[in-house]
Amino acid sequence: MNILKNIQLVNKMIFGAGSFHQLGDIVDDKRADSFMVFLVDDYFEGKELAERTPARDQDRILFVNVDEEPKTSVVDDLRDAILQITGKVPDGVISIGGGSVMDYAKALSVMLNNPGPSSQYQGLNLAQQPSVYHVGVPTLSGTGAEVSTTAVLTGPEKKLGIKGDFTPFHQIVLDPELILNVPRNQWFYTGMDSYIHNIESLTGNYSNALSDALAHQSLELCRQVFMYGSPDDMPSNEKLMVASLMGGLSLSYSEVGICHAFSYGLSYVLGTHHGVANCIAFNQLEAYYPEGVAEFKAMVNKQDIEIPQNITAGISEAQMEKMIDTTLALEHMWLHALGEEWRQTMTRDKARELYQQM
Ligand code: NAD
Ligand code: ZN
Repeated sequence: MNILKNIQLVNKMIFGAGSFHQLGDIVDDKRADSFMVFLVDDYFEGKELAERTPARDQDRILFVNVDEEPKTSVVDDLRDAILQITGKVPDGVISIGGGSVMDYAKALSVMLNNPGPSSQYQGLNLAQQPSVYHVGVPTLSGTGAEVSTTAVLTGPEKKLGIKGDFTPFHQIVLDPELILNVPRNQWFYTGMDSYIHNIESLTGNYSNALSDALAHQSLELCRQVFMYGSPDDMPSNEKLMVASLMGGLSLSYSEVGICHAFSYGLSYVLGTHHGVANCIAFNQLEAYYPEGVAEFKAMVNKQDIEIPQNITAGISEAQMEKMIDTTLALEHMWLHALGEEWRQTMTRDKARELYQQM
């Protein structure tokens, strides 16, 4: 008998322009006898949004750098520093940033209540103790990290999420004003993550009526945003926030596919950021997702976006081998995309050939 997923959803959400103003009241409601940690993308250090963070005197605001994708070692250092300096577990962790900062907050909130290195928890439902209260406030839209059941981390051995019931946010605050005027390339790379989540969720063995409905609607919103919108118009940003949420839910109840399997290899070995790595990979996957890739290319043209080319040219043989290993280890994605016999289609040689085109 097929075992169906029973997923933990975000407990509470607020959506709409200006909703960030309500963050203070929301957080105050959860205060006990400790303090709150605000994890803020260091992009906002010294900017207006950081000034508007509703932190009280006892709270800690930690600016996080995400030039590199989230790492298990950074999660451990954050956890250890907070516990050593304050001697207390915080009442909550509030993240303000893109997918990277949100994933840091999701992982940190689990690790504040669970011992040992976070790399031990990369996998499904490995944490024993519930996470501390945590809130996601996205400042980029597309990853679906605000609603997904995983906190994606690069560890000493692999790029894999801390997944499970304790990972999703207790609260998300979706304020489209926070994603207004994101630089066009970043807006596109992160937004395309949502588009690709939908294409991959729809195209595979784990798709179902629920994930399909979410993906279809999210795709429609992505089309409106990337064929007709721009980063500086509010209706587009509202749609993109909803698309990200629906795409994230869709893949949570289905699976991602070939593009993500290749993208993870690029990120793990070359450090390429998720959004741009997806675009680089998807650009070469016409044979697997013909309609999706054609539409993607139309959006790239429409928005006048530069997709990096030939990033694997000149890499060492060891790096190529590691990338192929990383990709082919993502069995759940391959089972979804290509089925039980996937190893016969996606051989090491085929994976190498595709990487050489990226
Ligand atoms: P990001 O969080 O990595 O940020 C990208 C860049 O944009 C950074 O330099 C950041 O400082 C900057 N930035 C953030 N907000 C900005 C704003 N409003 N204006 C201008 N710049 C801003 O980007 P992302 O694409 O949102 O997230 C990618 C990460 O999300 C990856 O680490 C990936 O692994 C993860 N991810 C997680 C899930 C999940 O389900 N948990 C899903 C997909 C991706
Ligand atoms: Zn993704």
